[in-house]
Amino acid sequence: DHRVTRAANLIRTVLDFPKPGIRFRDITPLLGDVDAFGDVIDVMAEHAPANASVVCGVESRGFIFGTPLALRLGLGFVPIRKPGKLPGAVVEQSYDLEYGSTMLAIHTDALHPDDNVLLVDDLLATGGTLQASKRLVEQLGATVAQIQVVLELVGQPGRDSLIADGVQDLFAMI
Ligand code: 5GP
Repeated sequence: DHRVTRAANLIRTVLDFPKPGIRFRDITPLLGDVDAFGDVIDVMAEHAPANASVVCGVESRGFIFGTPLALRLGLGFVPIRKPGKLPGAVVEQSYDLEYGSTMLAIHTDALHPDDNVLLVDDLLATGGTLQASKRLVEQLGATVAQIQVVLELVGQPGRDSLIADGVQDLFAMI
């Protein structure tokens, strides 16, 4: 698909960011190209499951792709946020980072038990972020219908750990 190839060529690798030894995938050149950015949302929408009832995006780059995707699909958008950001009652999940741990939160009234969630982030590496996000969705009684990421890092355990966690539909565009 030429749309995927063009998008892939607009993701830049920055060495030693944010720390020495890290090869950071920078999506900002892709976001700045209106045709390529639109193509990414088109491809994501084409792969969305027909039964999705809501899009959940993970702070913060999951918001960038999740909100236009939700509008394109005619669905509402629910943010999964870092701690201390959501004003209402929340449920939280902590998860491990390379050093230490962090948390994600969702409003308790954001999802209903009959929701089929399309869960979106920009990038899949270890899978820790999306595993925690999936647990938040399930804490509210809803179901993850599909996980979509723009970019999956090969050689990382993300895909296998999500499948081991029961994810049946994982679409990585690149
Ligand atoms: P994981 O939890 O799968 O190890 O890491 C994925 C999360 O970290 C995503 O929320 C993603 O935004 C962020 N992330 C980790 N590495 C990168 C990177 O190289 N580029 C970008 N854009 N995000 C990254």
